[in-house]
Amino acid sequence: MKISRIHRTARGAALAAALLVAAAVCPVSGDAAAGQDRRIQTMVIDPGHGGMETGAKGKFGNLEKDITLAISLKLKAIVERNMGFEVVLTRDKDVDVSIENRSAIANNRKAGLFISIHANGAVQKKAAGSETFFLSLNATDEETRRLAYLENNSSELQSRLDPSSDDDLMMILWDMAQTAYIKQSSRLAELVQEELDAMLGTRNRGIKQAPFKILTGVACPAILVEAAFISNPAEEQKLASADFQAKIAEAIYRGLARYLRVPE
Ligand SMILES: [Zn+2]
Repeated sequence: MKISRIHRTARGAALAAALLVAAAVCPVSGDAAAGQDRRIQTMVIDPGHGGMETGAKGKFGNLEKDITLAISLKLKAIVERNMGFEVVLTRDKDVDVSIENRSAIANNRKAGLFISIHANGAVQKKAAGSETFFLSLNATDEETRRLAYLENNSSELQSRLDPSSDDDLMMILWDMAQTAYIKQSSRLAELVQEELDAMLGTRNRGIKQAPFKILTGVACPAILVEAAFISNPAEEQKLASADFQAKIAEAIYRGLARYLRVPE
């Protein structure tokens, strides 16, 4: 086999390999992307964090990883009961899953929708409310940039799980996968956020764009929900209650149902 010059450096080889992977998951045409939401067979729900990577921690000791799993299990049950497609969780127990593996699960299962569930954290204890994100390489504001940094680097575990990955390079390349779906992701974010606002009775922080790594590699409409602030003691207690978790799951489900009924 003829080997071109770029393959002679390790970085060149990594680049070529990453391009091949990105090309394999990237949709071929805009039409394929537009039709995707009407032919969904599988949806992926991603409970944020897990295992040694706990996510944010509340004053009362509640961990983001446990709350995201509880909400995700409830959402899975509602979707399976009311919609005719398969729901895959990126984890269904308290285990570590790398960011790359989470998007790989969605792409390997040919998911038609991807929803990542999180609980927010901020230094300001008063910060409160729900917000929904879709991907952008530029953050909406400084606060959002900080949140994306925290979610992308919430532990050193990521680099230990995948020491070979060149994060910056991978992020730019994988971004190609989500780029075709930005419009649909933005619509899904808008509808889910409207339902969270109607259902939760908490502050509506709106929809935002941020460079979340978890969304970059997903080749279907994808959003990240920050349901409420675990760093706010009042919201932490709500997040820990099964009732509030069920309301979050129901709100996301309603947004999803509206999205599927109203194609672009
Ligand atoms: Zn998180």
